[in-house]
Amino acid sequence: MNLFALSGLLTVMTGLPIAIFVYWAGSDKISNRLWALFVLSVSGYGWATYRIALLEDMGSALFWWRVSMFFVILIPVFFYHYTRFFLNIYNPKTLALVYLSGLFFLMLDFTPYFIHKVVRVFGLFYYNSDPTFFYTAFVFWFIFLVFVTHYQLWRFYKSASGEKKNQIAYFFLATAVGFGGGVTNFLPIYGFNFYPILNLAVSLYPIIMTYAIFRHQLFGIKVFATGLLTGVILLVLLFQIFFSQTPSELVLRSLFFIIVSIFGMLLIRSVLQEVRSREKIERLAKDLEEANEELKKLDMAKSEFISLAGHQLRAPMTAIKGYTSMLIEGSFGKVAERSKEALERIFTSTEILTKLTSELLDLSRIETGKMKYDFNSVNIAEIIQNILKELEMNARNGQIALKFKNETKNDIKVWGDKNKIHEVIINLIDNAIKYSGEGKNVVIWLRNPVHGSSGALVAVEDFGIGIRQEEISKLFGKFARTEESKKIRPDGMGLGLYFAKKIVEDHKGEIWAESKGQGKGSTFFVELPVA
Ligand code: ADP
Repeated sequence: MNLFALSGLLTVMTGLPIAIFVYWAGSDKISNRLWALFVLSVSGYGWATYRIALLEDMGSALFWWRVSMFFVILIPVFFYHYTRFFLNIYNPKTLALVYLSGLFFLMLDFTPYFIHKVVRVFGLFYYNSDPTFFYTAFVFWFIFLVFVTHYQLWRFYKSASGEKKNQIAYFFLATAVGFGGGVTNFLPIYGFNFYPILNLAVSLYPIIMTYAIFRHQLFGIKVFATGLLTGVILLVLLFQIFFSQTPSELVLRSLFFIIVSIFGMLLIRSVLQEVRSREKIERLAKDLEEANEELKKLDMAKSEFISLAGHQLRAPMTAIKGYTSMLIEGSFGKVAERSKEALERIFTSTEILTKLTSELLDLSRIETGKMKYDFNSVNIAEIIQNILKELEMNARNGQIALKFKNETKNDIKVWGDKNKIHEVIINLIDNAIKYSGEGKNVVIWLRNPVHGSSGALVAVEDFGIGIRQEEISKLFGKFARTEESKKIRPDGMGLGLYFAKKIVEDHKGEIWAESKGQGKGSTFFVELPVA
């Protein structure tokens, strides 16, 4: 056997099993079917080459050359189609044109307008010679299609990433080697004295592809490997049947063959099922990821809407508050006592509304990452004194005494945003007032820190409704409220502590609460690092 025949035989031997397995591993998938057709065309070409290389008679050499060309015409067409599919390119018109041009050459193939003469080359076999116009057109068409397809692959390769990039790389390598070698077969036709030795490269591409399949799971590697192994075992068993010496051996071996076939089929089926369910899970995971992205976008849109609405509400509320307070003070003339009461209610309600609006605005700021800080050295004792003045009226209404116990010697300064720290502490003291019964006192302690070696610890202690142990850690979450507090103060939103925690954490401090249980009061702690 000469090398040309060997290259043909090798191409069939590597290509055919791959074509069968790829088809069989996913006959319902277009990609598998297309790739199988492509490999089958190459195998057909290999088979015809094998025949040509061994023929002694000129007449049948011409026939086998035409058979060989039949497959060669199909190769770039299927390759082109498969690549388009693999790269998700949808262009039906171009595809139709490629198929039509392929059909055109197929129709010419068995006429003298394509191949009309073969000559003996290298003293070994008959080779296609004296190319016709259409044959040369075909050579250009072939090279052009292969070039365009590889160019597409290359462009996608540059922008692809991860697994897809690897797949394209192997794909590219395999087909480039195969085509690169195969194209040199045209040379002797045009009078170049080049033995078509590179035809051997054509048989290499299925090997590279197989490696790619094993490494990068192009067509479901598990099914492929299981099928291959089962096939080899069955082939060996079949041979054994043929070489049986006695009838009993024949029966026994045939029986064994049948049993192994059944188990092999069952094995393959279970692997196939496993692969399918894995594919399903992967698809579900992808859907979930997309849904999650969508939710994030909606969440963002919601935060932006709240921010917009909040800003729009602010101005009218300030006007309502301002004018109500002027009416109460009598700036627009004397107000009857009953009307005054109503006006005071309007004023308090508007204040609650203002607080809610600013809480919603803060929430949207946190969620959109727009919380801004102005860090400076801050005197904590001073902040507490100011807050006590602000809340004096509130406390007095509930007959609550606010006591400030400063246990630090010098005025402690911490590093932070004055307004934000003010917001945190006022919220704690306001809560202490809100959630204490009438006549209960609230004590505010300023101490040296427990956790850090330097800094300040503010503790707000009350003797009010208290908190159940299991609820303490939850209170710093968004919209968290205890059932008891809802009964006493239905107007709260459960956002104050959530903001406080966020602010304190942004100051690299700590915030926590302690309570001996329901009805036994609670203490809220804030620790901030020193300036
Ligand atoms: P709001 O007070 O507007 O509900 P906060 O975030 O400030 O929101 O507080 C969250 C919840 O924590 C309150 O609803 C209440 O259930 C609980 N809480 C806060 N401070 C105290 C306290 N001093 N005593 C008892 N419960 C408290």
